[in-house]
Amino acid sequence: MEIRVRFAPSPTGPLHIGGARSALFNYLWARKNKGTFIVRSEDTDLERSSRESEHNILESLRWLNIQWGEGIEVGGEHGPYRQTDRLDLYREYTKKLIESGHAYLCYCSEEELEQERKDLTAKGETPRYMGKCRHLTQEQRAGFEAEGRKPVVRFRVPEGQAIHINDQVRGDVVFESDGIGDYVIVKSDGIPTYNFAVVIDDTTMNVTQVIRGEEHLSNTPRQVLIYQALGLSVPEFAHISLIMNTEGRKMSKRDGDTAVIDYRKKGYLPEAIVNFIALLGWSPSGEKEFYTLDELAEEFSLERVSKSPAVFDFQKLNYINSHYIKQTEPERLAQLAIPYVQQVGVFSAEEPSAEQQQWLIGVMKAIADKISYLAEVKDFVHYFHGDTPLEPQGEALEVLKGEQITSVFELFRGKVQEVEELSEATVKTLLKQITKELKLGGKLVYMPIRVALTGQMHGPELYDIIPLLGRENVLKRLEITEKRHLG
Ligand code: GLU
Repeated sequence: MEIRVRFAPSPTGPLHIGGARSALFNYLWARKNKGTFIVRSEDTDLERSSRESEHNILESLRWLNIQWGEGIEVGGEHGPYRQTDRLDLYREYTKKLIESGHAYLCYCSEEELEQERKDLTAKGETPRYMGKCRHLTQEQRAGFEAEGRKPVVRFRVPEGQAIHINDQVRGDVVFESDGIGDYVIVKSDGIPTYNFAVVIDDTTMNVTQVIRGEEHLSNTPRQVLIYQALGLSVPEFAHISLIMNTEGRKMSKRDGDTAVIDYRKKGYLPEAIVNFIALLGWSPSGEKEFYTLDELAEEFSLERVSKSPAVFDFQKLNYINSHYIKQTEPERLAQLAIPYVQQVGVFSAEEPSAEQQQWLIGVMKAIADKISYLAEVKDFVHYFHGDTPLEPQGEALEVLKGEQITSVFELFRGKVQEVEELSEATVKTLLKQITKELKLGGKLVYMPIRVALTGQMHGPELYDIIPLLGRENVLKRLEITEKRHLG
């Protein structure tokens, strides 16, 4: 049997990490089984859904390289793939359910429902719909219609039934039908509710496995009852656990960024995000930590998806991202870093010149092992650009008081002026020559030059900084330091 799985986001906001993980697991499972991955849009919440959110979700999926073979924007045999374009289909199934007695029209007003909830709560019972409109006569219905009441459609929940869910992560999960109460499947404006529409979509799209977040486990019995009422086969389920913060609470905006776009904007690499979210709830059999999408598609299995909550650890994300940054060609890093260099005003808003691009490639080579995400480039630009060093503070000021300083700077200036070209190799040689000629330990030479040029005691390698700054800026920075501190 062909494996068919789906990701069915509600376009009410950007794609979040949790949604991206559901999409990824479905995608990987489809690829592993040579099945089909479908993406569709659950946009029946008319007030909160927007095309803008839908666009953001699809763009984020594409950015992560999670591709779908069927669904929204790519088409397929089971479309349309947006719920608001499928209302006729839901109407057909609603009719079937009403005709077979599995659903009925309910005219209860909000006030009546509220009263029922209060009464049940007062008696210590679970508030639920007790079926007041279950057996309305023709006349009663006509009466309500005449009053101008607009009915909802409710599903008639069978009594005393144990509903079994075959969950590939959680095993056999059983719910009792008695606690459920007849629930709304079509609202008074004719729009189906999630629990109903999702069943019709999954069944008409021949979905074989429903892989989604644990928050939907409690909805599942309501969905299973609808399959049963329609005489349809029920798909398998796999509910993946919630994502927690490192304190063990459900991950929220307060913990940091939750939308995929936020990570993209900060300069995380898509392959790092994929690697990181794959490990949120799934664990590989070996010790390996880094996986490409292709490797994940080989290795992924639902059996190794854990029942216990996944922990979102920012440090781990940064660790994974820095690994990928180090692996990436500097040309690509430079391309991705352009916006950050523009943000600090070093590049104008226009396309950088060939020379600027070359400079940025050099910068990325020099700092690739020092940053966790590309926006951090902004903190490094001052080392490589401009004619003014930062003001040294504390210990760095002390460095400039050494008695060897004047001779080190003199010699350094002369060599920088003389050398034909400043490159990693020529800078290394020139620095070594200074230590030799002055018979000084390396530190007594490198540290003052570093402080003179950057105002800092630490930072990228001098042999990276000096060629990228260029002769003019190096000499200017040296002069400024001398003026400021050697008077
Ligand atoms: N629209 C639901 C959500 O975004 C989908 C749930 C499902 O996959 O059935 O959570």
